[in-house]
Amino acid sequence: MASSSSYSNSPCAACKFLRRKCMPDCIFAPYFPPEEPQKFANVHKIFGASNVSKLLNEVQPHQREDAVNSLAYEAEARIKDPVYGCVGAISVLQRQVIRLQKELDATNADLIRYTCNNNEMPSGQASARRMGDDQGGAGSTSLGQSPSDFYYPSPWNHY
Ligand SMILES: [Zn+2]
Repeated sequence: MASSSSYSNSPCAACKFLRRKCMPDCIFAPYFPPEEPQKFANVHKIFGASNVSKLLNEVQPHQREDAVNSLAYEAEARIKDPVYGCVGAISVLQRQVIRLQKELDATNADLIRYTCNNNEMPSGQASARRMGDDQGGAGSTSLGQSPSDFYYPSPWNHY
């Protein structure tokens, strides 16, 4: 047999790591390709190869890839953060969600306040508003009346 198909003959990352022969029905082979040796090394260090093998046999074949991805993610997080593992990342993200939700609530409240203020006080009527406030906060209702009644007499008004 020619050795041209050396790729398919090369053991999966798990078997290479464990220095054993990779059989055609190897449970690790579909999920631990030889190009990603670190993936199996991490999972083996944290969970142990026999536990991973047991787990993969208990899980339905269509769920195995997700299971391996989850194990690989959790193992990598545990190696980076031995105390909290991926729980550390989850709680950081949860705090971020809470902070951003508060920020969003505050911004929405500001938006509502500005919208209300704009309805009460159209731009350019600031002086009339000040006059209205002097009368006890009648506000926009007095805008219909002639605001010039409140102005001091000036030489330019009598043209
Ligand atoms: Zn294998």
